[in-house]
Amino acid sequence: MLQRIPVNKQRSLARVPVLTKRPLRRGCYPVSGLRPSSRKVNWADAYEWRRLKVLQAQPNAAHLAIAELAKHVPKLTVVTQNVDDLHERAGSQDVIHLHGSLHSPRCIDCGNAHMAPLSSDDLPVDGCRLEPPRCDACNGYIRPGVVWFGEMLPHAAWSAGFAASGACDLFFSIGTSGVVYPAAELPLRALGAGAKVIHVNPARVEVCNQELWLQGSAADMMKALLEQAFG
Ligand SMILES: [Zn+2]
Repeated sequence: MLQRIPVNKQRSLARVPVLTKRPLRRGCYPVSGLRPSSRKVNWADAYEWRRLKVLQAQPNAAHLAIAELAKHVPKLTVVTQNVDDLHERAGSQDVIHLHGSLHSPRCIDCGNAHMAPLSSDDLPVDGCRLEPPRCDACNGYIRPGVVWFGEMLPHAAWSAGFAASGACDLFFSIGTSGVVYPAAELPLRALGAGAKVIHVNPARVEVCNQELWLQGSAADMMKALLEQAFG
């Protein structure tokens, strides 16, 4: 289950941050049982608008550097809490989405995947109220395929991310806040298995002798790392 750790506990765990760029916002997501009008607002404003923005966005230098890095190492697994598809569009092949994806909607009631394409053509740039699509099987509302606050992470994604963390030689923790569990366990898992852990973050990260902190943005640091390591 997604949860924040209390402030006093954050201090003792501060040297091992999480993978995510930003925690999910809480308190703004619909759940089964909300009034349909609420669902309309949330589907359109919080997700369809966001999905449209993601589709318009392009991978940045960090996404591209990570995809390029995969060509130089025997195996590279991307474990992300981002719900966009920018890693895939940058060329990464092996991407684990711990928090699901904006691009894999499913039924709120029966869980069936929604296979029909979602159109954003008629969505104004500043958002609008919009009726969510309906499920072909049970006529329930379709929800985005992301993990909402308080929900469990997808088991298969979590298991794969945990296994990859325990099997790696080098673990990059990039652009993270260090406050969202259970993803914060992954660098710990890598450390426990003997891997080196590199934190790329503009904000200071306290590290042990198995870790390094590279101060800077993900885009700048990953691009520079790639150039220095492989030319
Ligand atoms: Zn359904």
